[in-house]
Amino acid sequence: MYFGSVRFYKHVILITMALIVISSVTSCAFMAISNYHMKKLLRENGLAASAHTPSINSDDTAATDIRKQYNSASFDYQKLYPLLNIDNDFIYDEDLPKSVYLTFDDGPSSLTSQILDILKEHNVQATFFINYSDSMESQALYRRMLEEGHTIGVHSTCHQYATIYQSTAAFLDDFAQTAFMLEQVTGVKPEILRFPGGSINSYSKAVYQQTIGEMLRRGYTYYDWNVSADDATSTVTRDQIYNNVVNGVQKYNKSIVLMHDSSNKYDTLSALPDIIEKLKSQDYRFYPITKDVKPVAFDYVD
Ligand SMILES: [Zn+2]
Repeated sequence: MYFGSVRFYKHVILITMALIVISSVTSCAFMAISNYHMKKLLRENGLAASAHTPSINSDDTAATDIRKQYNSASFDYQKLYPLLNIDNDFIYDEDLPKSVYLTFDDGPSSLTSQILDILKEHNVQATFFINYSDSMESQALYRRMLEEGHTIGVHSTCHQYATIYQSTAAFLDDFAQTAFMLEQVTGVKPEILRFPGGSINSYSKAVYQQTIGEMLRRGYTYYDWNVSADDATSTVTRDQIYNNVVNGVQKYNKSIVLMHDSSNKYDTLSALPDIIEKLKSQDYRFYPITKDVKPVAFDYVD
């Protein structure tokens, strides 16, 4: 019998050894070929091959391409408006439990004094991200805001997305006018801002990283929001505004709430007292934003 004989086992051992030798030779040859290609690739990219050969994959190649695009940035905008500078170490306070930061964009308006009346009546402090206005009425409103414990931040001068998001320099031109006006009128330098349309939007795609970086470099903190009254649309009802805010706040330990202060936002004004009372009854507390408050910021998505 061949199977099970000594001769059979000899053949099995010989065939196994032959297979081991063949596979070793094949893998050595494969490694030599890929090493050659790796070195060639490194040479083509101007990199010397070293003992620790870095891995080159498609992600690294993509990253290199992006860097090439930004190599030409001049950073000249850093020289604009040297007085636009805040001393800020960016060490934020820990979040307060059940905290709500009401924020009003786009004011001052013909409704601002009524918003202030409601906030005063309920002993609530909030934050106003304002658009440029230096009328006597507006100046009086800014002073009243600060006297009553609210914070004023910069929103915009022209509020035209296509203009302000043309470049970082264009954004600074717009920001500077409102920031300087506020400081002149109130004697207080604004330290926080809200980007029109939020920090990342379809108009700011090409410049938001550079612009955000520049505003942080100058010490300003920007605040997006995690709860929205959705009162920017004209079709929203008073009850929807109420529900958007009250239900939205339940989802977070700290809520930064987007609302609007414009002359036609009667529904926001009308919903405000009920929003405050409801949230107070649920043990939420209201605070104005200061630069020590940890920001809520939209994610960078490329
Ligand atoms: Zn706005």
